[in-house]
Amino acid sequence: MSALIDEATRIAREFDYPADQVQRGVAEYIKQSNDGLAQEGTTLSQIPTFVTAVPNGSEKGLYLAVDLGGTNFRVCSVQLHGDTTFSLTQSKIMIPRELMASGTSKDLFLFLARQIEAFLRIHHNEHFEAHQRRRRDGNNEEDLFDLGFTFSFPVRQCGINRGTLIRWTKGFNIPDAVGHDVCALLQSAINELHLPVRVAALVNDTVGTLMARSYTSPGETGTFLGAIFGTGTNGAYVEKIDRITKLQKMEDAHYDTSTGEMIINAEWGSFDNHLSVLPSTVYDHDLDADSNNPGVQMFEKRVSGMFLGEILRLALLAMHNNPDLGLFKPSKTSKVVTPENSTLYRQWGLDTSLLSQVEADNTAEMEDVKAALKDHLKIENPSNDECQAVKILVHAIGKRAARLSAVPLAAILIHTRKLETDDIVDVGVDGSLVEFYPNFEGYMLEALHEVPQVGAAGAKKVRVGISKDGSGVGAALIALVASKDE
Ligand code: ADP
Repeated sequence: MSALIDEATRIAREFDYPADQVQRGVAEYIKQSNDGLAQEGTTLSQIPTFVTAVPNGSEKGLYLAVDLGGTNFRVCSVQLHGDTTFSLTQSKIMIPRELMASGTSKDLFLFLARQIEAFLRIHHNEHFEAHQRRRRDGNNEEDLFDLGFTFSFPVRQCGINRGTLIRWTKGFNIPDAVGHDVCALLQSAINELHLPVRVAALVNDTVGTLMARSYTSPGETGTFLGAIFGTGTNGAYVEKIDRITKLQKMEDAHYDTSTGEMIINAEWGSFDNHLSVLPSTVYDHDLDADSNNPGVQMFEKRVSGMFLGEILRLALLAMHNNPDLGLFKPSKTSKVVTPENSTLYRQWGLDTSLLSQVEADNTAEMEDVKAALKDHLKIENPSNDECQAVKILVHAIGKRAARLSAVPLAAILIHTRKLETDDIVDVGVDGSLVEFYPNFEGYMLEALHEVPQVGAAGAKKVRVGISKDGSGVGAALIALVASKDE
């Protein structure tokens, strides 16, 4: 074997995450999740969502959903047909930069309400006009759309449609909104325009993933857990209200207790921020140290799409800088890789889609690996050893991420005693990583199986399915559940 392959194999071994470590991770996750259910301010936030029921596919009706979370504002209407199917109509509007960072909250929320108005006029004009007519005639009979509001910023939620903004992230900065109820802000802008819309629920996208899967999945049990493996990673699951002891201390909490259950948003990206059990290589350490939020989201930094490309880049760069290995160095066939021409040198320069492309290529010629290296890193004509070295590292980093993903899953199944019955446990997942990285789900289930309290029999009860559109149909379903609570 060449020195290059030897070194890649050695580095890959640093990413091994064997069964005994998975088990230690699970024990620690159970401890941190119990802490999170009992008190505020813990590493695992375990946020109560006030959503107290999951759909079974028979729900019917027309609901609205909006999603504010990044550069775009999405408005959609969802017709639930009551037979696990739905139709969705959607529009997407870019948010003007000046509204994101320099206006007042009133400017922003009026802008959002105007987009809802435009959407209603185009897609539901009859309903809209009927409402306007009734209002002009002084008829107070209400026929309002219930709306689910997906708002992907940190909020302190105290009811299904109440939550105060803790801080803005992702380039938003409108100080006068901080500390205010974002549902009330949206509702008052809607009222100002006299729209037939009631903000029924504040929605987290992971909870939306769970709800969307529960509506569309076959079977009567309802979905137990929703998980996202995309830019970030997070999960939500159904918990017994009695176990969420911190709810008793929330004086302003307002919720329906009839089901005895509530969905918990785990915020598991921040599991083990103090690194008591998470595996750490020098590349994990350097990624975190150079990030804009060192010491937080430590689980996410080993698992999700935003970070896997960067872990790979750091490992490849270390090999490239080792003069004995000759990785991506000038040769008869390949061009020189320089800081000017290759993203190998640029922080966050490598997209995680490269990992999927490389992992998927099982051919001897490795043409897809070569194409990926050319597209992503401007590396021309890499040797077979170079391609092989990249493949070894990619496999190790991707497999560790998938095995790590089994930790919260196993821990939640164990602490909720979900595997003690014969029921199937339904899990909805979403995100590019789980959708496109080859066998991500397979490696995750393999590690799950290795946890003794789960075992082969437990893992067999777990049914994983892709759940798309958490912020569309999921948000609509939460609005529906919320409107039934009234
Ligand atoms: P989001 O989580 O932002 O809603 P996605 O689920 O599409 O959206 O996740 C985007 C993340 O997934 C990005 O970090 C991107 O690098 C990564 N990604 C995009 N395509 C792929 C792919 N084919 N395989 C693995 N990761 C991917």
